[in-house]
Amino acid sequence: MKELPIYTSCLLKRNVQTNDDEIFEKVTSSGTPYYKFYAVTDENNEKVYLQSFSDAEEVVNQLKSKNSANSNDLGIVEKYEVSKAEFKEVDACVNELYEKKVVVQSVYRNIGKQIVNEASVPTNLGVTLIRPISGTITSRYGLRWRDNHKGLDIAAPKGTAIKAACGGTVIFSGNGAGHGYSGYGNVVVVRCTDSLIILYGHCSEVNCRTGEQVAQGQIIAKVGSTGISSGNHLHFEMRYNGTAINPQNYVYN
Ligand SMILES: [Zn+2]
Repeated sequence: MKELPIYTSCLLKRNVQTNDDEIFEKVTSSGTPYYKFYAVTDENNEKVYLQSFSDAEEVVNQLKSKNSANSNDLGIVEKYEVSKAEFKEVDACVNELYEKKVVVQSVYRNIGKQIVNEASVPTNLGVTLIRPISGTITSRYGLRWRDNHKGLDIAAPKGTAIKAACGGTVIFSGNGAGHGYSGYGNVVVVRCTDSLIILYGHCSEVNCRTGEQVAQGQIIAKVGSTGISSGNHLHFEMRYNGTAINPQNYVYN
């Protein structure tokens, strides 16, 4: 077997040959130094720089223990850069990155021209409602073609007895046209509490009088298709402090 050749590195300058020490000297003096440090990131954006990984880790851990709003978006990235970043102390970084958790106070929903501040509507209205009729829900509260639907439609045969979902004072009973309830046909409006009224629309007949007290479960009207209606159904509408709210948060849910 032939002997393998031996390779060595060297810098050549015309006919001058240099030794290994000179090569090392040349490389280090002409090379570029890199700085190694750590960035704490928030949603992948570098926010602060620290000299050691353990410091960066400390920043993230402190923010998590303080339950900072960005806790789950934080990360640590190792950096190699030709220039040093501006380093900060752990405490300063924590202060800079800490975000207080903001509790969403309210969700606004557009209902026609009205705005419902859902957070202003309690989940407990102080009354427990019963279903005024049993039947098929044909249209829900909320967005509908061209406009918003302020109530819940429940289809049932004409003449089906409508029971008061909660007791209270009948503040209107009769044909709503010209009485602030046009389109509802024959309608019964019951005030259940200071804040809550319930409308029963499109009735074929009404079985109570304006001003009368009705008990929960009492038959107050019969299902029909009066007013603007395309078939026999009960339009069940709840108004809380004057604004239509979603009945299915309280009944038929
Ligand atoms: Zn309706």
